[in-house]
Amino acid sequence: MEEVIIKVERSNTNEILKKIKKYLRNDQKYLLKMEVNSSNNRDLQKIEQVIKAYNIKDLKKRYTYIYDMVCKDLDEKFSKENLCDFQNNKCKAVRDGHYCNSLYGCCYGPNRGKCKNLINNKCNIKSISCKLFTCRYLRKNNCKFFIRDIPLLNLFFNYRQKYLISYSIFIDEDQIIESLLKLK
Ligand code: SF4
Ligand code: SF4
Repeated sequence: MEEVIIKVERSNTNEILKKIKKYLRNDQKYLLKMEVNSSNNRDLQKIEQVIKAYNIKDLKKRYTYIYDMVCKDLDEKFSKENLCDFQNNKCKAVRDGHYCNSLYGCCYGPNRGKCKNLINNKCNIKSISCKLFTCRYLRKNNCKFFIRDIPLLNLFFNYRQKYLISYSIFIDEDQIIESLLKLK
């Protein structure tokens, strides 16, 4: 396999992502290697993840890596920034009267009741679509996740796959990955 050096400078993330997109057309031919010339690039971790995903040549393994990374990053963001701010089992939206009157945040719907995957106040599956979702209340406060802003999702998936990633709420990882492979 031919080796391609990806040079990371202080602020060349967009350039790097464009370059990698080009190499994706021939992803079995190249192996990407990162050369960090400036550790001040704020997107270093994102670039590392994209290069790692590119270098995984087995599609199922690549999709699983991407899926797990994006879920981990979203979980960390929700937890570090305390986005839903649960207190006494009530999230910020519910406490402020902006959402349905429930103890379970958006894992409850007035017509569908409590999600069957919520067991002992904990989600029992790993649905990337649920993790990407933010309610109207959070969106009003500028908290929304767009696939186009997440390079791992934006680069490696086509339009139909992105649609699936957005709308597969309540569905677990294995099933979503199988569907993504079929839509390749
Ligand atoms: S996304 Fe909104 S409704 Fe869902 S748990 Fe967070 S604050 Fe509550
Ligand atoms: S599947 Fe989605 S709605 Fe159901 S418990 Fe998990 S995060 Fe909540």
